[in-house]
Amino acid sequence: MATSEPSVTDNHPLAQRIKTTLEQLHTTGLLRQRRVNGLVSPSKVIDFSHNDYLGLSQEPALAQALFQGAQAYGVGSRASPLVSGYSIAHQQLEQRLCELTGHEACMLFSSGFSANSALMKTLFNATDTVIADKLVHASVIDGLKDSQCKISRFLHNDLTSAARIIERHPGCAVVTESVFSMDGDTAPITELARLCREHQCWLIVDDAHGFGVLPNGFVNADKVDIQVVTFGKALGCQGAAILASQDVIDFLVATTREYIYSTALSPANAHLALAAINWQHSHPQLLTQLLANIALFRQVATQHQLTLTESKTAIQPIMIGDNQRVMDIAKQLTQQGFLVGAIRSPTVPKGQARLRITLNAQHQADDIRALVAAVASLLNNSGTNTSVALQTL
Ligand SMILES: *Cc1c(COP(=O)(O)O)cnc(C)c1O
Repeated sequence: MATSEPSVTDNHPLAQRIKTTLEQLHTTGLLRQRRVNGLVSPSKVIDFSHNDYLGLSQEPALAQALFQGAQAYGVGSRASPLVSGYSIAHQQLEQRLCELTGHEACMLFSSGFSANSALMKTLFNATDTVIADKLVHASVIDGLKDSQCKISRFLHNDLTSAARIIERHPGCAVVTESVFSMDGDTAPITELARLCREHQCWLIVDDAHGFGVLPNGFVNADKVDIQVVTFGKALGCQGAAILASQDVIDFLVATTREYIYSTALSPANAHLALAAINWQHSHPQLLTQLLANIALFRQVATQHQLTLTESKTAIQPIMIGDNQRVMDIAKQLTQQGFLVGAIRSPTVPKGQARLRITLNAQHQADDIRALVAAVASLLNNSGTNTSVALQTL
């Protein structure tokens, strides 16, 4: 089976480039690889890595809702929304989202990434300047780049920096996130909204990590002109929505290539997302429990002298600094039965690699205490000075 001559495939420039890139990623410790979740004694692993903040992905009543949705509407939408893939299940979900946020109209996508990038690239063109927070999500950046607009970034969550740029570009658009996915901190939406209004700018907010779990209620149409919500985080399921004025949605429906040339979100999933929203609302104790768990984590971590960030949300980063060290620590935590996110550059700036710990409503107080103790012990042993790491923020 060994061959003396390399095949055409191996010699192809693409094959060479792929090989070189893989080798580079491997030697720099940046090779991202999937792992099959839940295979190794699933009952023993306590998961602090996912975004299912209220535990809805595991809720039997919602599994039932998905089944009912599939029975009523079929398992697939069979066509793009403009052909025949738009059903009453989609419409009902859109109406509920409008009701909750105060926006006039809504359209659904199969993922938040697709919604964000499609929105940016369809809405803007080369004549526009778009002002974005330094830390907005990759999907926003990709969409902005595709649109060929001019992108101006302000310092993360810095109103002075934002104001300076906004004042120079009246009538433009500003993009930020309600809760930042890697830092867990929240944008000053009220103040940004005021700034935008003063300078006739539109405010666009990616509400992926905020929708349904912001302690102070929903981001809504009073403050933001366009809002993107995703169903894969606190709703525990799949899909996303853009919410805006009727004109904006009419325009996007008619012109967005990702919407026109892609099979609609399955109606069963739309039915499920609606059920998940209703479940959240009929079970407010889930959010109460989540907030209590966040508070407990921060309290215990402080007792163990771990340096925390300002985040008051379910996303609680512990700064480590070095890419390899964060991988080592995450691996040791896994061996001890805790699953946490290990976030490295280039996802976050160099030197700001971190454990990304996400709390959920299902965590028990003892799980949280045990995790914090394990992290503290590993950091002490590895000599990481978390307060030094934090200064690089
Ligand atoms: C997860 C996420 C998205 C993408 O949503 P998906 O539905 O997972 O594709 C967009 N923006 C932010 C801030 C996110 O965290």
